[in-house]
Amino acid sequence: MTPTLRFAPSPTGYIHIGNLRTALFNFLYARNCGGAFVLRFDDTDRERSTRQFADRIETDLAWIGIETDRVVRQSERTHLYDAATARLKRLGLLYPCYESADELDRKRKRLAARGLPPIYGREALRLSDDEKQALEAEGRTPHWRFLLPNHDGDPAVTRRTEIHWHDLVRGPQTVDLASLSDPVLIRGDGSYLYTLPSIVDDGDLGISDVIRGDDHVTNTGVQIPIFEALGLAVPRFGHHNLITTIGGEGLSKRTGALSIRQLAEDGYEPMAVASLATLVGMSGAIEAVADLDALAARVVLDEVSASASKFDPAELDRLNEELVHSMAFEAARDRLFELGVPQEDAEAFWEAVKANCARVRDAAVWRDIVYGDGVGAVEGNEEDRAFLAAARDALPQGDLDSTTWKTWTGILKDRTGRKGRSLFMPLRLALTGLDHGPELAGLLPLIGRERTVARLGG
Ligand code: GLU
Repeated sequence: MTPTLRFAPSPTGYIHIGNLRTALFNFLYARNCGGAFVLRFDDTDRERSTRQFADRIETDLAWIGIETDRVVRQSERTHLYDAATARLKRLGLLYPCYESADELDRKRKRLAARGLPPIYGREALRLSDDEKQALEAEGRTPHWRFLLPNHDGDPAVTRRTEIHWHDLVRGPQTVDLASLSDPVLIRGDGSYLYTLPSIVDDGDLGISDVIRGDDHVTNTGVQIPIFEALGLAVPRFGHHNLITTIGGEGLSKRTGALSIRQLAEDGYEPMAVASLATLVGMSGAIEAVADLDALAARVVLDEVSASASKFDPAELDRLNEELVHSMAFEAARDRLFELGVPQEDAEAFWEAVKANCARVRDAAVWRDIVYGDGVGAVEGNEEDRAFLAAARDALPQGDLDSTTWKTWTGILKDRTGRKGRSLFMPLRLALTGLDHGPELAGLLPLIGRERTVARLGG
């Protein structure tokens, strides 16, 4: 069977670099094993999920270069969850509970006061039909819990029940079902929580491997017996570490922190973002990888660090610069045209300035300097003016090309006796208005004769 992986965001906000890490691990793993990649929107929470967020997630993934073989929405698959619910009820594994959130909270506090873990005591299982009817007559609607298989026939007496799996990232894992509350699968208003739809879909879509954040490790322990109760094949699981801010705070879709959308708007290259999202916390250097195929080759799940990885914005800047400094003209062309760089010059312009750009959009600074009117004649003392006049006179005739700078400064050196910084810096200041920047040999032909002469005070 074709390996099938999935990324399953809830469309309740913009995905951030931590979500992207999950998406990439699944997508790249699928690519490595010739598998399929499904985008599944976990949109059962109707209040918080929106179509706009879902569409934006698709846009963000496409920007990175992630291609999806199939897109599914849980909101369109309720019939499958209803069928699974009916099955679990028939098996006696789903039971109605009537406690309010406050009542559950009080129960947990009473347990904590006695030094006991906050595990639901299955009180609802002891309700008689009459008691249930009375509660419903009061207007209470039940939420439904799955009865974990952590007992020998009498659910009131639990026993240690270990669930084991070999995690693709963390190696052998054990969760004791006796240490957990029976999970609520259906809310009082009849809507599904994440757990059941996720299991049903993983089964229905033939998901072979689930790679997700390590905040789901305990969920996996809970989900495996539900897969089994429903007769579904249990996928392999891998739980990767999470990414935090540099200050150690978790990322949230709701706050929009480090959203992919924002990083795109800020002008970062998709491969800088993808490289960092994938390689942070993995053994080996974090470097800007050229494309997703090369990145796929770098994914070794069992090398991912067990502790959280910090997202360092300076690292992203570094990777972006690496990519921009070596970026071929073709990759920058459209953006340079958008910036209004003259098309006939654009390639030479890019080759001249790219080493001085941290992001492609920084080319706008050099566009203004090369082509704009902002660089005026330098106001200097008499000696400076005399030097620039000499420079004007020494400028070789004909078109300025990549050899002109060398010829020109050679003549000027002979005529004025200046060399080194005292020769080059006044020219740089006059031609660009700055004391630093790209090689003048490359800029000079772009600035052209007319502007050069004018900037030298001619
Ligand atoms: N919607 C879930 C989440 O974003 C998916 C978890 C999973 O991969 O199973 O956390």
